[in-house]
Amino acid sequence: MLISFAKKDSKLNSAFNFEIEIARQKPRDIVKKWHVPDVLAFSTYSWNFLQSLLMAKIAKQHWPNSLVVFGGPMISFHTGYLAAFFQKYPFVDLVVHGMGEWPFSEILHKRLTDGDYSFIAGVSFRQHNGQTHTTPPVYIRNLENLPSPFLDHTFDDIMARHGDIITGALWETNRGCPYQCAYCVQGNSDFSKILTLNIDRLRDELEWIGQKKISYMFCTDANYGILPRDLDIAHMLIATHRRYGYPNHFIVNWAKHSNLRIINIAEILRQGKVNTRLTLSLQSVNQKTLRAIKRQNIKQETFNILKHEAANRDIPTYSELILGLPEDNYDSLLSGLELCLDYHLNHYLIIYLCRLLDGTAMAEPAYRKRYGLVTKTCKVGIARHSWVSAGINETENIIVSTSTLPLSDWKRIFDLIYLTLALYNFRLTFFIFNYFRAEYSVRVTDMVEFMIHQIDKAPGKYTVIRQGLNIIRAGRRAVLKGQSSLVSLKLTGAMLLEVHEAALILMLNNLDRCYDELRLLIAEYSDSQGLRVDADIIEEGLQYNHFLIPRWSKPPMSSRTFGFNFSRYFYSLCVKGKKINICKEKSCVKLIKPNQHIEDPESFIKSRLTISTFDIFKVENR
Ligand code: SF4
Repeated sequence: MLISFAKKDSKLNSAFNFEIEIARQKPRDIVKKWHVPDVLAFSTYSWNFLQSLLMAKIAKQHWPNSLVVFGGPMISFHTGYLAAFFQKYPFVDLVVHGMGEWPFSEILHKRLTDGDYSFIAGVSFRQHNGQTHTTPPVYIRNLENLPSPFLDHTFDDIMARHGDIITGALWETNRGCPYQCAYCVQGNSDFSKILTLNIDRLRDELEWIGQKKISYMFCTDANYGILPRDLDIAHMLIATHRRYGYPNHFIVNWAKHSNLRIINIAEILRQGKVNTRLTLSLQSVNQKTLRAIKRQNIKQETFNILKHEAANRDIPTYSELILGLPEDNYDSLLSGLELCLDYHLNHYLIIYLCRLLDGTAMAEPAYRKRYGLVTKTCKVGIARHSWVSAGINETENIIVSTSTLPLSDWKRIFDLIYLTLALYNFRLTFFIFNYFRAEYSVRVTDMVEFMIHQIDKAPGKYTVIRQGLNIIRAGRRAVLKGQSSLVSLKLTGAMLLEVHEAALILMLNNLDRCYDELRLLIAEYSDSQGLRVDADIIEEGLQYNHFLIPRWSKPPMSSRTFGFNFSRYFYSLCVKGKKINICKEKSCVKLIKPNQHIEDPESFIKSRLTISTFDIFKVENR
């Protein structure tokens, strides 16, 4: 975007040769390729910040007269931060805040003339006297005439050089966000107005994306679906898919105050064969936390209506929670977890560890002090990939305790959350636990808490589920040692996994035994609660759950006969949201597409597992 904007200016276009570097390689190797660069501009975020700093440092040693400019959401506008930044990184000449297109072009103009950057809005630098000079950024800009890097050949050049490694397109239809979440760099009261990009330009960009056969699109809007025109944009997307067969996946940050419009948009996209999932966002259910992070959730009633409506229209949805937010405690996190563990088969849960990003309100020293935020700095990796070896490791600051969540509680809730995700969210116990919920009003989190207790009490027992719990705990210890929140398994080599994904893989690796252990644990739980359960229903219910879980080592049975009406019961409960009676009824349950068998664990993970969902078998419902 910066280059497109600058190239549109004929004076800059004739004075500069613009080059874009996107691939991650060893910093020295990249710098070696350059020939006396006049201006080096780095657009940074947590995934390229340290790498960019190292490249800038090396480049400045080679070419002290080059102008080094840093920008991007990592750079806080906080004066204390900026003073420390310029002191720590003396090789950085200028820092840009807010939207970069205008200040970047003005910097280039000044570079050609007097080199006085002090009047450019959104630019900071260290003055000769050591003081930081800073000018606030301008947030209200006219985006209608912004040039498009899709359409002015900027991205054609990148595709020509890196087309083999590019798997998707980032796309924006607007900028700005009306909310001010304390953990987010967009949470900025000065940038609360939503500024739109021209709709004809967006249509042309989609044409480019379709023609280039780009399958994945990530829309960077903060609240897609918030504007009425987003419905038109969805129609444009599916028209592109109809013409070219691309894009196939549309990943987006949905409007936070969800309404029927976003359900309609998601339905249009899915009916048009563009795959998407809808977020029904929460982050926390604790009112004190929501006040501390300046967030307002949708009403519980609306949340339930939307979830139900999405289920009726077969739209996958997910909720998000964050572990480590200020004011949350063990009990509030437990309540949030229980609330989000939905009985709808198409609804999932994602729980993020809270990352403290530079440039956010939450990272400011006074905020950290007020809420007692304690962090560990860990390496950043990408789940379901191996470590990126080129360059240096990027790091992230993970919150591991707060004034209301002491470390001991963070550890306990970490284990509970991720074992619950492995068992329930990934569907290993989804049906049988839902049976208990529907028939005995038990809480899923109580069942998992009980299981952890039993596993810890009997060291020689439950070896398979214990392995799952152990890898979760190993991941938790790795965070506390300042290593990484991702783990790897012998079984899957160098591939990095989220802890609950790794726990699932270990349990799938010994699935029959895993279900034997679950059978025992469920019996112990029922006894401990004095539940009068029908042993035949539990036995067959576990077998039904087991029947729907794929694995790599063993082809599935294409059908099975059960003595109860499980298929109808769970279809009614988990798809239609209505409880019917479970009764004896001989029924043959058939899998849809039973031949989707995969032999090795790595391919299995790539094709069936994402951070939040595990693609289980579907059955014919009669
Ligand atoms: S988290 Fe989302 S809603 Fe909140 S400020 Fe950031 S972009 Fe806006």
